[in-house]
Parts: sequence; C-alpha cells; structure tokens
Amino acid sequence: MTSQAGPAGGPGFETRAIHAGQPPDQATGAVIPAVSLATTFAQEAPGKHLGFDYARSGNPTRASLETCLAALEGAAHGLAFSSGMAAEDTLLHCLSPGDHVIIPDDAYGGTFRLIDKVWGPLGISHTPVRLTDLDSVRAAWRPDTRLVWTETPSNPMLLIVDIEALADLTHQMGGRLVVDNTFATPYLQQPLALGADVVVHSMTKYLGGHSDVTGGFLATDDSELAEKLAFHQNAVGGVPGPMDCYLVLRGIKTLAVRMDRHCSNAVAVAEMLSAHPAVARVMYPGLDSHPGHEIAARQMRAFGGMVSFIHAGGEPPALEVARSTELFTLAESLGAVESLIEHPHRMTHTSVVGSALEVDPGLIRLSVGIESVDDLLADLARALDSATYLS
Ligand SMILES: *Cc1c(COP(=O)(O)O)cnc(C)c1O
Repeated sequence: MTSQAGPAGGPGFETRAIHAGQPPDQATGAVIPAVSLATTFAQEAPGKHLGFDYARSGNPTRASLETCLAALEGAAHGLAFSSGMAAEDTLLHCLSPGDHVIIPDDAYGGTFRLIDKVWGPLGISHTPVRLTDLDSVRAAWRPDTRLVWTETPSNPMLLIVDIEALADLTHQMGGRLVVDNTFATPYLQQPLALGADVVVHSMTKYLGGHSDVTGGFLATDDSELAEKLAFHQNAVGGVPGPMDCYLVLRGIKTLAVRMDRHCSNAVAVAEMLSAHPAVARVMYPGLDSHPGHEIAARQMRAFGGMVSFIHAGGEPPALEVARSTELFTLAESLGAVESLIEHPHRMTHTSVVGSALEVDPGLIRLSVGIESVDDLLADLARALDSATYLS
C-alpha cells in the first residue's frame, strides 16, 4: 500500500489529515476549528437545534476530530473517546454475557486486563491465540465466539498478523474482526480496506504524537454497529473534552511527516541493534529476518517506529540499559516525537505476568522518536556497551 491517493481519487492522506472535518470557520474565517467549550446548545424549539444539544452527546470540536480521523481510516463512521481503554470498553459493551472473544497472545497489557478482569466476571470469556497461525484461530473457535481482537504490529513483540487472511477466516466463521491500529496508524495501515470490521486507536500515541493528550477512537463502516457504538458512547460517557480533541486534531496534521521520520529512524536503530553483540534478537517488521516481514510489506506503507529487542544477558543488563540511556527517556507509552525506552515485564506488561501473554524479562521496547538519528544510535550504543553482561 504505497498510494497517497484518497478513496476513489479523492484527496490524498496528507490533505485529508489537514482539511477533513475542519473547513475555515464560517462566522470568523478562523483556519483551525474552535475549541468549543459549551456544554449545552441553544434550541430554537424543543428538540430543534443545529446538530448539538449536550456536550456528552456531541461537541463541534469532537465532531471535527471524528470526521477527520474517519476520513483517514477510510471509514464511514468514527467515534472519539477519552482514552484508548474507554474506546475498547465501549466496543465491548456491544457484546452480551455468554459471548466469547479470541484475543492475541501478544497484546497491550491494558486490553488483556480489560477483557480478563473487567469483562470476564460480567460473562465475556476469552482465549489467547497466536494470531499469526490461522489454524490456531480455527481451533480456538467456539459456537459463542463473536469477536477476534488483533493488534498488528503487536505490543511488545511486534508480531505481524495478516489482516486480510484473518478477516476472511473470521467472516467465514461468522465473527467480526477488530484491529487495534495504534502502532501502525492509518498512515501506515488501513485495516478496514483489508476487511476488518472495527479499528481501535489509542490517540494518546502517534495520533496525538506529543505526549500531551489521552484519547481513543473507533472506526467502522458498519452503520448498524456504529449506531450501537454511538448509543454506548453517549450512554456510558467516556468522551474526550474539547481541548483534548483539538490537541489530537493538531497532532494529526503532521502525522504523515512524523511517521516517515519515525520509520526511517527505527530502521536505522533496528539495523544497529541487529549488529550489536549484546543483543540476542531484534523484533522489527522491517528486517528481512522478521517472520512477518513479507506480510508487513504487503499491508503496511512502512514498518513503524517501534523496535523491541532481547538482551543477550537477560533481565539484569536489560534493566541496566533501560536505566542508562540519556536521550531515550525511561517511560511508558509510545508514539510521540521524543524517544522512549521501557522494560515491558516490569512496566507496561505487569498485568500479563503469569498469563499466556507474559513477556521475556530480557525484553526492551523502544519507541523511536524523530530526533537526529545519529544521536539516537550513539545513545543506545553507549548504554549497550556500558551494561555488563555475560554471554
Ligand atoms: C496505549 C494503548 C492502548 C490504550 O490506550 P490509552 O489511551 O492508554 O487508554 C491500547 N492499545 C494499544 C496498542 C496501546 O498502545
């Protein structure tokens, strides 16, 4: 997928990112959408208004964001939430007690926690499956299976799932496919065009892009599902505030140029790590050695800004490396302009310890930022060279 063109010859991705849902303000000519703070909107007659009545149900800044992001995902419908988890939770509200979900055996820890600890006791069961293996998906299928949930690239192992093949299988079996597109962003990958039914985002990551706003998003082409989601968005109320919507709208304008740099910096980091003697294994879908490389090359524009690796000396030197980088800040989260380093086993993935999703304690995950690439490489090399380990 390399075309910049929009759907059916419409405006290209970068154009939509800057203009979709945000024409100049008709009253003032302002070239960016207003941060609309009103919680209620004047009505001409009871029930007769200009499209907005109460801010939880809808807000002009949120409407701009929802229109823009839906346009980027090529989706008919888009809904914004106060966090990625609020988006996921709202989607899971569309299931009924007794339903079963197939989840990835490598996933964002919070997604696993939500499905296991919150929805499990409410009657939603789940089976973790290695989704790169379609036979395992078939084997895990039950008569009550409704959803297959996937992340690609996955967190933190950067596994690549063939979205088109998984969508075909899921539909044959009578289920729906959800793709968490947080790591790829719509710039690199468009799951709905590949057959997915719902796209999930944490806007907190690349879409916001500057580590200063939390948000979530759902996109779908299915009007009936979109109606249910909108009902739950309003009824449950996990909606983003107008300032948050504005910050994400601003972030999205530069998504394409940021992603290009994230990707090229990540390639350089992955290559440098692959050649380093203290590194046992590098996970980056852009490397020929990655088992999902060919699928990623087919379904993604480029390979993303996330790189994971396993330290040859296991956990103690991995912790030392995570502590000793200077430019790569030791912190959770990902997808912003600044580079971050983290130790999944002790940080982002503590909620999966003891489950099928548990991660290697020697694993380090990098969110490669858009700083000067030579500085990033030097910082990592210094940290790796100074961490003591016995191979
Ligand atoms: C961060 C993240 C989430 C959760 O989003 P929040 O905005 O933190 O609630 C979900 N999925 C993935 C892949 C993430 O990285």
